[in-house]
Amino acid sequence: MKKNSQTTVSQKTHPRAVTLIPGDGVGPEVVNAALAVIEATGVAIEWDRQAAGMNAFRRFGTPVPDALIKSLKRTGVALKGPLETRVAEGWRSINVYLRRTFDLYANVRPTMNFAGVHTPFSNVDLIVVRENTEDLYSGIEHEIAPGVVESIKVITARASRRIAKFAFEYARTHRRKSVTAIHKANIMKLSDGLFLKCARAVSAGYKEIRYQEQIVDAACMRLVTHPESFDVLLLENLYGDIVSDLCAGLVGGLGLVPGANYGDKGAIFEAVHGTAPDIAGKGIANPIAMILSSAMMLDYLGRRAAGDKIRAATASVLRAGKVLTRDVGGKASTSEVTGAIVKAMSRG
Ligand code: ATP
Repeated sequence: MKKNSQTTVSQKTHPRAVTLIPGDGVGPEVVNAALAVIEATGVAIEWDRQAAGMNAFRRFGTPVPDALIKSLKRTGVALKGPLETRVAEGWRSINVYLRRTFDLYANVRPTMNFAGVHTPFSNVDLIVVRENTEDLYSGIEHEIAPGVVESIKVITARASRRIAKFAFEYARTHRRKSVTAIHKANIMKLSDGLFLKCARAVSAGYKEIRYQEQIVDAACMRLVTHPESFDVLLLENLYGDIVSDLCAGLVGGLGLVPGANYGDKGAIFEAVHGTAPDIAGKGIANPIAMILSSAMMLDYLGRRAAGDKIRAATASVLRAGKVLTRDVGGKASTSEVTGAIVKAMSRG
């Protein structure tokens, strides 16, 4: 993958190449919505459309075709729909495979309340920073005797330091007040102990940012009682997966939360939600998580004003509360919500 050049070259003459992975389930529907919104920003992108997941398996007999890997190596940036993995023997998860192949070690999920989306929780403004490459996702599992299996949790100082550094740098750049490392070091004294030790060492270089630690079970309770006491959350891979869905629940569900996977040489932008097979193909999926993921992608490409425009228009459509999908209390279709956001962008 290429390094992010943060180019300011006119996108009219030099459209930026980006790999586009429509994905499975609701993927094509929400990715199309994101494409319409990006087009409305006027930022020119040369999309390299690639199949992956079930969709690729049906056409090419593999969920990860060589053409996809080549494209990602060429562009260094992808906008990706959710992928279904269960078809593929020998693949635990294509998402995990892609994150590890391209060393996209930092998963970032900004989760905040939106005016117009009513939930029992207010003052939620969280950034989940999840380590993406190790922990129980290392996939080292074996049966040591019939009825007895081991699954090995791998935590390294290198990965723990770099994700902690990422979280603190993010906090510094985005003027966030605190970073909370979430752990279970009272039980996993060596592995989570190492993660904490690295986070503490890194925190010493960021005196202006408050550093806190919280045991994962207590953190879950506190997230639903006092979400305002958290800001940036720093988590290992598995806790990050679970806690980020909890955080999505605080603000109105998976249809609203965007995500990005960053490495030193590239990034993949995708919604937190999965393929949502229960609503796929019905035209009712909430496109906002994917649309906000595409805004994060534009920030990464150095087009922050375009990203801000998408965020402002999305917030205004939610605030107005007239054109909402069912998951957030409305009756509108995916394309009606997309149309309302595009219209709000033309006004803004
Ligand atoms: P997968 O196996 O791909 O993770 P899943 O159904 O287990 O699929 P999700 O796809 O994340 O997990 O869906 C969880 C629930 O959230 C489902 O009821 C789904 O309909 C709902 N959901 C997910 N994404 C959206 C969306 N964009 N709009 C509306 N509802 C959604």
